[in-house]
Amino acid sequence: MKHMIYMLITGETKIEEYASLTKTYRFSAGHRLFIKALSDEENFEIFDTCSNPNGHGHDYSVQVRVAGDIDPQTGAIINLDELDRILAPVIDELDHRRLDIEIPYFEEKQPTGENIAKYIWDSLKPKLGDKLIHIKLSETSNSYFEYYEEENYPYEL
Ligand SMILES: [Zn+2]
Repeated sequence: MKHMIYMLITGETKIEEYASLTKTYRFSAGHRLFIKALSDEENFEIFDTCSNPNGHGHDYSVQVRVAGDIDPQTGAIINLDELDRILAPVIDELDHRRLDIEIPYFEEKQPTGENIAKYIWDSLKPKLGDKLIHIKLSETSNSYFEYYEEENYPYEL
């Protein structure tokens, strides 16, 4: 794990060593953003063309970042084949799907970038544990979404 030094006198936490590895995975998926209780016109007001009744698609890329100790024998935080094996079923489940119709989670939650990033995080967390620190989901060349847990949140509050 990241080596944290807790300063007893000042109460500050300082990172002594930090190494991370980020790998990109890709999938294509369709979705429609809409609130079921509202009309098509009202949904268009909120979601614009993202609420097109016939849906639309994106070529997503997801960057998965893991952090932790560098294994002295392998020199790695995690074996890349192991990371690929962990990601494969998560990516396969989403690839070439209409998310709001075919993935039960998105029947109740909007299949937005935020929620897709959280879904991927929740799918990976049981397998990667504390090594998982960041998900970045790119939806278009102009937009991406990030998901963190509090202890790894990198920005000043
Ligand atoms: Zn979209």
